[in-house]
Amino acid sequence: MGAGPAALCIASELVQHGLSVSALATHSPQKPWPNTYGIWAKELESLGLESLLEYRWKKTISFFGNGINETGRKPTEHNFDYGLFDQSAFQKALLDKCGDLPWFIETAQDIQFKNSITEVICSSGNIYQARVVIDASGHRSPFIKRPNHGPVAQQAAYGVVGKFSSPPVEENQFVLMDFRPDHLSKSELEEPPTFLYAMDFGKGVFFVEETSLACSPPVSWSKLKERLTSRLSKRGIVIDEIIHEEHCLFPMNLPLPFLNQPLLAFGGSASMVHPASGYMVGALLRRAPSLAKQLAYAISMKPDLDSAELAKSGWQVLWTPELVQRHRLYQFGLQRLMSFDEKLLRSFFDTFFKLPTKDWSGFLANTLNLPRLILVMIRLFFISPTKVKLGMIGIVNFK
Ligand SMILES: Cc1cc2nc3c(=O)[nH]c(=O)nc-3n(C[C@H](O)[C@H](O)[C@H](O)COP(=O)(O)OP(=O)(O)OC[C@H]3O[C@@H](n4cnc5c(N)ncnc54)[C@H](O)[C@@H]3O)c2cc1C
Repeated sequence: MGAGPAALCIASELVQHGLSVSALATHSPQKPWPNTYGIWAKELESLGLESLLEYRWKKTISFFGNGINETGRKPTEHNFDYGLFDQSAFQKALLDKCGDLPWFIETAQDIQFKNSITEVICSSGNIYQARVVIDASGHRSPFIKRPNHGPVAQQAAYGVVGKFSSPPVEENQFVLMDFRPDHLSKSELEEPPTFLYAMDFGKGVFFVEETSLACSPPVSWSKLKERLTSRLSKRGIVIDEIIHEEHCLFPMNLPLPFLNQPLLAFGGSASMVHPASGYMVGALLRRAPSLAKQLAYAISMKPDLDSAELAKSGWQVLWTPELVQRHRLYQFGLQRLMSFDEKLLRSFFDTFFKLPTKDWSGFLANTLNLPRLILVMIRLFFISPTKVKLGMIGIVNFK
């Protein structure tokens, strides 16, 4: 169910295993995805998929200083390539891999489990049956059951692809996080912190996006727009032409689904968004093959498994005990970061990117194994300034 990146990643892998697969989505899988997806180039290189990048930046920086003096203006250089997917090439590559998979353009309304099969009841009245159903309908799925841990923090962003009176970032530059707060009033400094994510697309076109890492309730798009405008105007920049506007809102710490439910999930619905960074596409590409392999194995070795048993065997591979532990650590980290004021947050990120590249990039991609992740977190703690240390262990709440 679904036609976003998660659905296409898992469907294409299932097809590769020779399984009989059908797909069901509210719109054609050919319809262009609405979001732009960014990723560290290394993640795609390790999968041999770097040719799917439309843009690739070598000059990748962030600003964590206060921006008022020369030291504050000095960027942190990441020395690590970042890219944006060529959306249509990515979508086409996955669809090609899906072969002649049948697509039903339908909206799932209800799901029922009947003996050995699952029924998907659609708003059209049509009913589809399958041995096992994978819900890849995004984080708003009403079908996937998860515990209620209270309010969920959301990442919110307002962005503009456009032309500007003067360049908002340097030529060929990518800015992961510009946290300089010198455009903010004293009272704004007390509000949830936001940063600029920006890049040069060439030919006088830039993408600038004011982003709130995670907040509950989320920072509103109007607030983010206001912040973006004042950030730009502080540097004497106005937007001359808006080519595209991006409104981004998705949960960062959605609780993990119950892993014994008879419906499987993949992507946003399976809480696969990285709780500390908001990234997911790399994880989809890395984790789809093992889930597909497991389902193919379970179906071929035990032909009489019912939906609940098949789904359970899938959940066990999708969320292994190790991945669950890592997720918990990331959620804990995010929880702490959300208690930081803007000054402390800048100090935290300044320290975080002083970690060796393989450590901070592995942390952000969720590719460090559990012992390594713990070690990196301990190292981060020890190299952090005292105030950040106190914030990390939750002794002091800085808000
Ligand atoms: C604006 C934005 C920017 C993002 N940028 C990045 C990024 O740069 N890098 C990154 O890694 N992650 C990014 N993310 C996070 C995450 O990767 C995306 O949210 C991603 O689109 C989630 O993929 P998905 O396939 O799980 O869900 P979605 O992309 O939401 O797709 C869900 C699909 O299910 C279909 N569907 C929904 N309900 C039904 C139903 N009842 N029946 C049938 N079909 C249904 C929808 O039509 C859609 O095709 C971003 C998210 C947003 C919102």
